Parts: sequence; structure tokens; C-alpha cells
Amino acid sequence: MTKALAYPFSKPPLPTELIEVAEDVFWLRMPMPFKLDHINLYLLRDHDGWWVIDTGLNTSMTKSLWEEIAAKYFSESPLKGIICTHYHNDHTGMSGWLVERFGAKLYMSNTEFLTLIAMKHMSDKKDKMPASYGDYCIKAGMEPAEFKALLDMLSNTNYMPVLPFTYYRLSEGDFITIGKHRWQVFIGSGHSPEHVCLYSDSINVLISGDQVLPKITSNVCVSPSEPNANPLKNWLDSLDSLKVFPEDCLVLPSHQLPFVGLHARLAELKLHHMSALEKITNYCLDGSKKVMDVTNLMFPRLPTPIDKFLATGEALAHLNYLVEMDQLSVIEDDENLLRYSTNNLPPQQEKPLFQAHE
Ligand SMILES: [Zn+2]
Repeated sequence: MTKALAYPFSKPPLPTELIEVAEDVFWLRMPMPFKLDHINLYLLRDHDGWWVIDTGLNTSMTKSLWEEIAAKYFSESPLKGIICTHYHNDHTGMSGWLVERFGAKLYMSNTEFLTLIAMKHMSDKKDKMPASYGDYCIKAGMEPAEFKALLDMLSNTNYMPVLPFTYYRLSEGDFITIGKHRWQVFIGSGHSPEHVCLYSDSINVLISGDQVLPKITSNVCVSPSEPNANPLKNWLDSLDSLKVFPEDCLVLPSHQLPFVGLHARLAELKLHHMSALEKITNYCLDGSKKVMDVTNLMFPRLPTPIDKFLATGEALAHLNYLVEMDQLSVIEDDENLLRYSTNNLPPQQEKPLFQAHE
């Protein structure tokens, strides 16, 4: 049985309040108008100013909270650095605005910066969805009405970040010194392509972004822009690589509460995906299953079209992984639907197909 996680800070900060969670590391929250109603940001104190990890969603509320934070904390000690863990809107929403407003430098990994810029190109096309996106949904077996609902929802949603034009690159193994502490850059992948985490051994703190969350699992999704991608392999490899950091480090995630118990959580996350892979392999034995069948198996309750779209991408991530592992075969049938079947296993490879590492 997995060891329970410990939560040393049970109460999150109020808007614009800072809670010091380690020496010169402060926890800040920004609201979001979704079921996941917040993102955690972290302010790091330097000798001559502040750095912030992630920026919040691009909304008028976030902007006014940033103005209040600036009035409270930045008057004598300016914001000098912004580190975005990855390109998703809740992390980069205010990045371009913060750069302009405070003259701070933006730091990201190369692929996350370029993906952010590419997302703008995709967002500009949202009223006329590319044919390849339609193919993705049709091949998965998504009903036309569901697809239409998704298009309507996407065209009514606009949280596109204020885009930055210049950034400074962070790569695996880099070190950044901020005030008294030196932070090591760790790159994960699977939830996004080149996700930055930061670890400081002087205070034993890991800023994990969305790469490790304490209670929910991060979306690992195949998107219509790369339908044959295998992000689940990257994700599982990253879970293994993160074990290089100590079990007793304080993990500062982008959502929910800071926690202790890194290795226990990594094991839980790995087990979650291994169980899903085994369930899907057994489910596809009759050779007729579509992506949407697997989506419904994995996620029986999907309240909105966006939930369904992300769940479909996650089902496809598991299916692509199994096809690449040669556990499943896939064909496109006469109606352009992808159909999955479980491969015959050599006798020595009988169940369980997947072993979660401890
Ligand atoms: Zn994310």
C-alpha cells in the first residue's frame, strides 16, 4: 500500500497574500473560472528583486490582482524574472503582459516557447477548424453533434495568453541562482513537450508545475496536431527520472496543496497508468473497439465537450502507447474509424502485461 502524502500547509493563501513555504520561497494563488478554480504561483526572493514561477490565466481579474501584488511587494524590489514551467494558458497567460509591465525577463524551455507561439496560429484558425482536426474526431468515433458542440465551445473560449516576443532558454541541467539558493532545471515531458521543474538542494524544494500534482492526474493527451504522438511514454519516463530528487523534499505543485512524499506520489501515478493500460488491453480482445469506446471506459462521466475532447486525447495516448509497445494492433475500417485489437501474446508473456515499478 502506498504511503500517505503529508501536507505541511493546510490553508491556501488568500488573493494577493504570500505564504513563505521555504526560505525566500512564497506561495501565491490566482483564481480561474473553471472547475479547477486556481493555479499556484511561487515568488522567489532575489537580492535585488523578485522572480515568479508561472503567471496565471489571461483575465481582467488576474491583471488587477497583479497590480495589487505590485503595489504591495514590488515598489522597492521589482519583478525581474518570470519562469513559465510550460506553455498552457494558466501558466503563460500573463507572461507577455508582465514582461511589458515590469520589464522582467521571461525564461522558458525552447519547445514550450515555440509551442506557445504555435498555439496562437491554431487559435487564429478556430472559426474554421482544419480538415485534419475533423479527421481526428471522425477516426476516433466522436459523434458529429459532439464535434459541433466542441467547435462551438472552442470558438466561444478565449484565454489566449498575451504573447511574449523574447525569451531566455532553460535546458535540462542548467542552474539558476536566485538570492541565496541555486535551482537545478529538470525537464519532464508528456503533459507538455518540455516542461520545466526546478529543484534547490539547499532548501530541499521541488517546484513541480503540472509534472507532479498531489491528488489529480495531469492530462496526457494526443492532440489533433500530432495524432501519432506517444506522450504517455515520455510521461512514464519522466515519472521514473523524477525519482532522482529526495522522497522528503517539499513539492510545490501548480494545483492543490504543497506536499511531502514525492516517490509515493510518483508510484501512485505510475500505477494509475499501468492499470489503465492493462484494462484497455483486456477490453480490446474482441478487436472491435474504437477510441471513443476506450474514452468511455476510462472516463465514464464527462460533463462538457472540452472534457470529452481531452479525455479522447488521453485515451488515444494510451492506445498509441500500446500500439507502439506491440500490445495492440490498429486498422482503419471502411467508415474511417480506427479499430483496436489485442495482439496474441507469447506464452511467457501472460498477464500481468505491465508491472508498476516501486
Ligand atoms: Zn498544464
